[in-house]
Amino acid sequence: MQFAENVELKMLNSFGVKAKARFYAELHVVAELKQFASIIQDNPKPLLFLGSGSNVLFTQDFDGYVVRVASKGIKMVSETDDECLVEAAAGEGWDDLIQFCIQHNLYGLENLSGIPGTVGSSPIQNIGAYGVEVADSIHQVHAVRLDDFEELHLKNCDCLFGYRDSIFKNELKAKVFIASVVFRLSKQERFALDYKGVADEVKRISPHKTDLKAVSIAIKNIRNSKIPDPTLVCSAGSFFKNPMVDVAKLNQLLVEFPSLIYYKVTEQSFKLAAAWLIEQCGWKGYRQGDFGVNQLQPLILVNYGDASGKDILLLSQQMQQSVFTKFGIELHPEVNIF
Ligand SMILES: Cc1cc2nc3c(=O)[nH]c(=O)nc-3n(C[C@H](O)[C@H](O)[C@H](O)COP(=O)(O)OP(=O)(O)OC[C@H]3O[C@@H](n4cnc5c(N)ncnc54)[C@H](O)[C@@H]3O)c2cc1C
Repeated sequence: MQFAENVELKMLNSFGVKAKARFYAELHVVAELKQFASIIQDNPKPLLFLGSGSNVLFTQDFDGYVVRVASKGIKMVSETDDECLVEAAAGEGWDDLIQFCIQHNLYGLENLSGIPGTVGSSPIQNIGAYGVEVADSIHQVHAVRLDDFEELHLKNCDCLFGYRDSIFKNELKAKVFIASVVFRLSKQERFALDYKGVADEVKRISPHKTDLKAVSIAIKNIRNSKIPDPTLVCSAGSFFKNPMVDVAKLNQLLVEFPSLIYYKVTEQSFKLAAAWLIEQCGWKGYRQGDFGVNQLQPLILVNYGDASGKDILLLSQQMQQSVFTKFGIELHPEVNIF
């Protein structure tokens, strides 16, 4: 097992930007970690794990080791009459896991259908869509600490999940390899159809029966109508998180901007629609050469051809600046920038 040198990553990141990895390898089994580590020890440089590259922006060549996670395997580890624990290896495709759940009538992840990426990345930003977060179904995350190879078995509560957030983006950032995730899934029929438009779309495609397949297809249809097709348009999905504000800031904004879009999270905290803030600043559909902001969904920054990561980063900074100037709100990237 060896690292290849100066490997182009353009085809390995969904933004499709050019960047070379100084060293590159693929990991198929967790045991390979120790071999990688002994090579890295002789020539220490930063290490980056890459799933399917759908939540990263390379703004320069990566002068270190890029290891693409390609470990596979999905298995049921235990079950009761009501629940089933399913363990999936980090390199499994996220949608392949959803298909496994549909085949085995396991409920919980179907609203997350169609999200690009791998299983190993899913807990990192606590992926979420259509009223569901992956944290709702995670039982445990099995990780390996990179400094001493100790295995960590983090229970759901240890992962400190929040909105697009977890311990893996904070205290454990770049300190662990996520080897597999164990999901607690329901064997009893239960759906989350409250999110606007979901129930109607399920009914449209399957008028007489609501089942996992119908929900999964409905979610993908809704996604396709709102999000540019990732096989045709290079992006990393939402570039920014929706900002949170307290009640005082919300009331202050509502005086000046009565049509502000917001959602109540708790009595004291509210989530603002970042897309609305960006649109109000005139960015929707903006394009300069090969980079710009999607016409339909202004949270999505796009590479139309040969844009560089630096172009996209600069655009994101200009957007942050104008939102801050108009609303006094800081937008934080959801995408991991290297
Ligand atoms: C069109 C589009 C739509 C999207 N829609 C959504 C959405 O609806 N909801 C949502 O939440 N997200 C969405 N995303 C973002 C993205 O799909 C998720 O963040 C996904 O989980 C990223 O998976 P990945 O394997 O591509 O991660 P990568 O981009 O490869 O990696 C992301 C981060 O995780 C780290 N990492 C990856 N694997 C491991 C591992 N095994 N161990 C340790 N660290 C690791 C990487 O180093 C990097 O920092 C969308 C993206 C696109 C392109």
